[in-house]
Amino acid sequence: MNFATTGVGRRRQADLDRGPHRQIDADAVTCKSAVIGVLASGGLDSSILIKCLLDADQRVKPFYIRSGLYWQTEEERALHRYLNAVAVPDLEPLTVLELPLADLYGNHWSITGRNAPLAGTPDEAVYLPGRNALLTIKAALWCQMHNVGVLAVATLESNPFEDASASYFHHLRLAISALQSRPFGLTRPFAGLAKQQVMELGRTFPLELTFSCIAPHKGLHCGRCNKCAERQAAFRLSGVNDLTHYIAVGASSAAVVGTSTKNLQEINQ
Ligand SMILES: [Zn+2]
Repeated sequence: MNFATTGVGRRRQADLDRGPHRQIDADAVTCKSAVIGVLASGGLDSSILIKCLLDADQRVKPFYIRSGLYWQTEEERALHRYLNAVAVPDLEPLTVLELPLADLYGNHWSITGRNAPLAGTPDEAVYLPGRNALLTIKAALWCQMHNVGVLAVATLESNPFEDASASYFHHLRLAISALQSRPFGLTRPFAGLAKQQVMELGRTFPLELTFSCIAPHKGLHCGRCNKCAERQAAFRLSGVNDLTHYIAVGASSAAVVGTSTKNLQEINQ
């Protein structure tokens, strides 16, 4: 497959150059694949990516990987709500793939829900070993088996982990391509963007339908965990109105949001 950025999808590229989506990696919208797969988590970044691609007239096939993690029931529900809200003819049905991780992660907080990292904890606290690779490979194999030539992941510039790096994805793409005679495209359209820039792209999207919490309660964002704080900080820092309903509000959560905002500012510098 040829991922040349010229000569293909010229109208789309012209649209991108004019609109707020111009910062998206051109590879994602000018590849020759009729459909582009997108790993969807129900969170802000991948949800914004899906609608950006749809707005660029790209046909999109979303994937959700169900691993039995504590928050995934709510996350998957949120993803369905968001996809219903942004649905257009170019949006293909969501495919849910099973990839249980409880046997691997054991008694970890991501499985039990106990002692999930709170706001103010470092990024390392929410790192899940190998998860990026496992999710990507499972969705990529589906793509290869169904003639979808490209898979996009919404990794941001600020992601500090090695398994989100350009080098890592380059080698992963080569390994996946080696499984078949045809090359496979693995693209990270947001790789050059900071969180604030991605939030700006999604400013008018129904972001209140996305889900980011690792310790949800009764279907709602807890407002206290690491990921809730990161979400709150993203909204505050970008000036996008946060319509999310958090259980914990007020002084205590304001304090932890402040800590997370500081972390996000440092990351974005
Ligand atoms: Zn939370």
